[in-house]
Amino acid sequence: MTAQKTGAGKTAIVIGASMAGLLGARALADHYDQITLLDRDALGAAGAHRKGTPQSKHAHAVLVRGLAIMEEYFPGLIAELVSLGADYGDVSQKARWYHGDGHHQACVSGDNAINVSRPLLESTIRTRLLALPNVQIIDACDVLGLLTTPDNGRVTGVRLIRRAAGSAEEGLAADLVVDATGRGSRSPAWLEALGYERPHEDAVKMGLTYTSCEFRRRPEHSPGVVALIVAASPESRRGGVLLSQEGDRWMLTIGGYLGEQAPMDHAGLLEYARGLATPDIYEIVKNAEPLSEPVAYKVPSNLRRRYERLTRFPQGYLVMGDGLCSFNPIYAQGMSVAALEAVALGDCLARGEDRLAGRFFKQAAEIIDMPWSTAVGNDLRFPEIEGPRNAMTNFINWYISKLHHAAQQDAVLSVAFLKVVNLLQPPPSLLHPRVVWRVVRGNLWRRPHKSAVKQRGLATAAPGSSR
Ligand SMILES: Cc1cc2nc3c(=O)[nH]c(=O)nc-3n(C[C@H](O)[C@H](O)[C@H](O)COP(=O)(O)OP(=O)(O)OC[C@H]3O[C@@H](n4cnc5c(N)ncnc54)[C@H](O)[C@@H]3O)c2cc1C
Repeated sequence: MTAQKTGAGKTAIVIGASMAGLLGARALADHYDQITLLDRDALGAAGAHRKGTPQSKHAHAVLVRGLAIMEEYFPGLIAELVSLGADYGDVSQKARWYHGDGHHQACVSGDNAINVSRPLLESTIRTRLLALPNVQIIDACDVLGLLTTPDNGRVTGVRLIRRAAGSAEEGLAADLVVDATGRGSRSPAWLEALGYERPHEDAVKMGLTYTSCEFRRRPEHSPGVVALIVAASPESRRGGVLLSQEGDRWMLTIGGYLGEQAPMDHAGLLEYARGLATPDIYEIVKNAEPLSEPVAYKVPSNLRRRYERLTRFPQGYLVMGDGLCSFNPIYAQGMSVAALEAVALGDCLARGEDRLAGRFFKQAAEIIDMPWSTAVGNDLRFPEIEGPRNAMTNFINWYISKLHHAAQQDAVLSVAFLKVVNLLQPPPSLLHPRVVWRVVRGNLWRRPHKSAVKQRGLATAAPGSSR
């Protein structure tokens, strides 16, 4: 097959124009003359759902670290999203976090996040990306496979077919091809067909089912609070979030572990929400007007593909995003990890293209290690979930439960926890002696230690208070 080149100079193709593809393309735009994104969906109106990203009908939180990268790539993005109706504010002060047996103490943490629907976030980033002179998208086209040199040592492009009636298979050539097609990535099969090994897969099954529904958001609903989070636990296999969205909407998402699933009708879903560890969310949605039918999405496992362990890999080819690692979505890590991988890709390219795949996969693996250990370690609190459990995992989970308990009266602990959740600090930061001491103190005495909190410059706020 003869393959057309996408343009003059150095060219790159990104398969998949979802969050990893968009952010990856942004990184490539600094290093390639022409980047072409390919997606099987027709990418239509701003803020619209589409078939290729069914997860967009469920809550999508952007972690602080990921948001910072997005803002750096697209300056003014946060302000634009706010102008479109998104809420931007303090991850502690404007939220209610319920873990274990109580609410974390809320305070001004200094770290801000954004509440925006996934379709609006994606389409806003896509529009900004396409404003770059060297980026284009061909939508409504299926990538069928890879083009390679005769010895299969280098990927030279892709085979694709457009969805328009009467289209025939065509080839598109590029110097670099990046697979950002998500969890269902066919790279393992494509590699195998080219004579390479498939990457080893680590999977930790948690049998999660998300059920989501949008509601009208009214000013009297929980003033000043834009996010309510109720964590699941071995005692209560269901967790839930209620996040504000643009257009005066709430997104309710309830996740059931180990086969637990919320009913698919409004009344049943509300009743299920009432059964969360705290009725905070139920109290808001019970009288709210539903704006959509409940939808469900099953995520069987945390899944990590160990490309960094392969000894042979074709040149001119990479995999990123959920195709590398797809986490339990409860921890809201996927888009932020994709953003970190995009930065790593840019860093690798800044040092040239020699052994690019080996260097990128190594760096991506280092990025994934922490969020993977957080997600899997936390899921292993459920005795029924099988995985690499050891004495340390059990100790950490026991310790974190004590941290949550103490954080009910100690905003410093709440902030320390939120920094890890938002990928701003590594999990071992929670084992710093100053943190350990507060956890011990908080579990020995029930009285709050407000003086110490003030000394650290953190103003505490009762959960739900507005300022
Ligand atoms: C239910 C759920 C909730 C989530 N919640 C959060 C959250 O709160 N916060 C967060 O950060 N992350 C969350 N995630 C993860 C997040 O959605 C992903 O990490 C993020 O979208 C990055 O994934 P990706 O771009 O690699 O792949 P995907 O988002 O899966 O996109 C793959 C893209 O590739 C295209 N494609 C696939 N095959 C082909 C082909 N052969 N040819 C052409 N195009 C193709 C698809 O159309 C699609 O556009 C959630 C995930 C799920 C499932």
